Amino acid sequence: MTKVAVIGGGISGLSTAFAVERLAEEAGLAVETLVLEKEGTPGGKIRTVSEEGYLCEWGPNGFLDNKPMTLELCDRLGIRDRLLRSNDNARKRFIYSEGVLHRLPENGPAFLKSKLVSWPGKARLACEPFIAARRSDDDETLADFARRRLGQEALDKLIAPMVSGIFAGDPETMSLKSCFPRIDELEREYGGLVKAMVRLAKKKKAEIREGKAVASAAGPGGILTSFLDGIQELSDRNAAALKGELRTGAEVEAIRRRDGRFEIRLVDGSVEEADIVVSAAPAHALSGMVRELDPGFSELLGAIPYSPMNVVCFGYEREKVKRDLDGFGYLIPKKEGRGILGTLWDSSIFPNRAPQGKVLLRSMMGGATNPGAVRLSDAEVTQTVRSDLRTIMGIEAEPDFVRIFRHEEAIPQYLLGHGRRLKAFDERLKDLPGLFITGNAFFGVGLNDCVNASNRVADRVVGFLQKR
Ligand SMILES: Cc1cc2nc3c(=O)[nH]c(=O)nc-3n(C[C@H](O)[C@H](O)[C@H](O)COP(=O)(O)OP(=O)(O)OC[C@H]3O[C@@H](n4cnc5c(N)ncnc54)[C@H](O)[C@@H]3O)c2cc1C
Repeated sequence: MTKVAVIGGGISGLSTAFAVERLAEEAGLAVETLVLEKEGTPGGKIRTVSEEGYLCEWGPNGFLDNKPMTLELCDRLGIRDRLLRSNDNARKRFIYSEGVLHRLPENGPAFLKSKLVSWPGKARLACEPFIAARRSDDDETLADFARRRLGQEALDKLIAPMVSGIFAGDPETMSLKSCFPRIDELEREYGGLVKAMVRLAKKKKAEIREGKAVASAAGPGGILTSFLDGIQELSDRNAAALKGELRTGAEVEAIRRRDGRFEIRLVDGSVEEADIVVSAAPAHALSGMVRELDPGFSELLGAIPYSPMNVVCFGYEREKVKRDLDGFGYLIPKKEGRGILGTLWDSSIFPNRAPQGKVLLRSMMGGATNPGAVRLSDAEVTQTVRSDLRTIMGIEAEPDFVRIFRHEEAIPQYLLGHGRRLKAFDERLKDLPGLFITGNAFFGVGLNDCVNASNRVADRVVGFLQKR
């Protein structure tokens, strides 16, 4: 029996172990899996907290249905019927700028009407199709890309808030190729973003005419999808479906090589042996585990920074919020100088996130551009969010319900040169046969990306075992 140890019981580790078990069985290989998770419960960044009738997401509040990976995982886990799709409000997204919540325009005419971007800013955006595509293959920061193709105002009011919404990151330091590889490809393939949109729309129309594609109301962004009892249903169900052992409270300290196998030393002093080790732990944690095994690899891993973040849930009686809440929520450009990054109107997009007659607003604080926010006291956090909600949404009332979730290391940052670092990882791993890496530190931070990377690494693990 071959033993495969997976370190880290977040969605990456859980879905890796699940895929290894399935693929090994299909290949007729006898494999025993062991997932080692440091915390007392599996799920990693996925955690749903239900209190006083509010359903608060500690981390992610869903995944997008425009990619198949998580949906396929749900099918395999038998939980399709538990899925909860966000309602139409989720399409209405807002940006707070110069004292006003502006609806993010969804099409050209709405964009022209919108007061979010000034006329000079719109004129600059209109130049995008005439800007030559970049020839160099070097990596570029998100900010440089946006300034070059779309102008400074679009960077400040559209791109930077989006980057903070996904990565809690700073576009001045982050890699276009690693954060948004498709956008980099579109510029290279079609010569620009507008040109790409026009050509792709034509292609889609032709495919619909020929019956090769179906028209989708969801648009390219997809629909935010969760579960009736919150996103934790996904990790709980995945954990329960594992045939092998899932050990919680098992913090790995070091990985060593011994006689062609691996020795995994845990903080409690115990040692596990395995033929294969897949790390699905955060990069900084893996860095510590391989310090003795390969100091160079450890150093490279340690160089991936994580942005810190507070997630602050406020519950109110509906009547105390004197404005409509038809929407997904809003993001705030850094220039506005607010204490929060934005607020999601969770109870507006999913029906059962707040008790009857109440609403749940979830604000994000911190990120790469305001790392000190995670060190503020609870009172300071509450005061900052209250003050921002008063200014932005006109909410004067005190919240009836407050929960603060702190993530010291919330989201990995794919900095300029991240792709080069991934290649260096591949080189180091060639000298460590049987050790594999996955997780959100490398190939995408969305739940879909994590599940996709897990499927790929499981495929490689089984391929490796077949060749042995
Ligand atoms: C606030 C927030 C909101 C988000 N919102 C969304 C969203 O709406 N949609 C979306 O798609 N994505 C979202 N994301 C991103 C997504 O949640 C994460 O990228 C994803 O859950 C990461 O999964 P993972 O398994 O790779 O890592 P993690 O969830 O971080 O799991 C790693 C696991 O390794 C364990 N571990 C660490 N050290 C050790 C050790 N030494 N030994 C053993 N185990 C160890 C940890 O305890 C953890 O359980 C959000 C993230 C955050 C923080």
